[in-house]
Amino acid sequence: METSGHPTGSYVDQLLRNIHALVIGDNSGELASYIPGLANADPDQFGVAIATANGKLYSFGNVDAKFTIQSISKALTYCLVLEIKGRRDVFARVGVEPSGDPFNAIEFDPRTSRPYNPMVNAGAITVAGILRDELGRDAFDFILTRFSEAAGRPLELNEEVYLSEARTGHRNRAIGHLLLGMGALSDRCEDAVDLYFRQCSIDVDTLSLATIGATLANLGENPFTGKQVFDVSAVRDTLAVMFTCGMYDYAGNWAFDVGVPAKSGVGGGILGIVNRQLGIGTYSPRLDRNGNSVRGLTAFKALSDELGLHAFDPT
Ligand code: GLN
Repeated sequence: METSGHPTGSYVDQLLRNIHALVIGDNSGELASYIPGLANADPDQFGVAIATANGKLYSFGNVDAKFTIQSISKALTYCLVLEIKGRRDVFARVGVEPSGDPFNAIEFDPRTSRPYNPMVNAGAITVAGILRDELGRDAFDFILTRFSEAAGRPLELNEEVYLSEARTGHRNRAIGHLLLGMGALSDRCEDAVDLYFRQCSIDVDTLSLATIGATLANLGENPFTGKQVFDVSAVRDTLAVMFTCGMYDYAGNWAFDVGVPAKSGVGGGILGIVNRQLGIGTYSPRLDRNGNSVRGLTAFKALSDELGLHAFDPT
């Protein structure tokens, strides 16, 4: 097993080892198989990492193992579109209301005819469409550069997963065309969906996720590099939407049990943020029926209890 070396014996290091021991025997859940490229993941891997807003990193397990960012990208592209297009314009096109529907639901807010929020596919594809219209062909490079700056290391597109998504993503194409029909996307809806497939297919690892989290926790500045990656007010709005909508149709339970803004992806990653304090990343590819990593959920619950991370903890 690849493990990363950090100061041994510290409380946090010991805690991460305990979390690993707690979850590693749980083999429940299934790999995402609806995208062929995702079914190749090693199901037994588990990594957990914490990066602090003042630039310390703690990790344990398969923290260098690569996996695609998938839906976690939705939170980051939302943060970027708020900066580029402005809060009001974005809000006019994508709502901020939890839907209670699965991520790939073909469902719109009947009162406004907008996607419910940017964390479901319809909302994320609309966000991708706005970025594509604003930035043209450079949109993907822009996204990759910003994600890399947040992660503090160069990230890359996983071509195999991208091609796999593009080959099988008929439901997302249908959502794109529906958005076009409703006037929510421009006639470049195919490009919007393609950009969405690409953003989902960026490879990350657990250390990158924790660092991205620390960048968000640190008001958009990567605490390891000092680079201001995200706009401060866009970070606030992004964390708010992650808090209410980030965990698919488990978002309410998550807010109840864990109580931090978070976003998960079907690649097996979960990104969590403790505002002004921590970024947390977990990776384990077996998913529950909501599409959330089984071991990741257990790890986050244990971390939240042990470190008192819940937003409404009395202490
Ligand atoms: N690429 C995936 C899809 O849209 C992202 C899904 C996810 O992580 N929930 O099908």
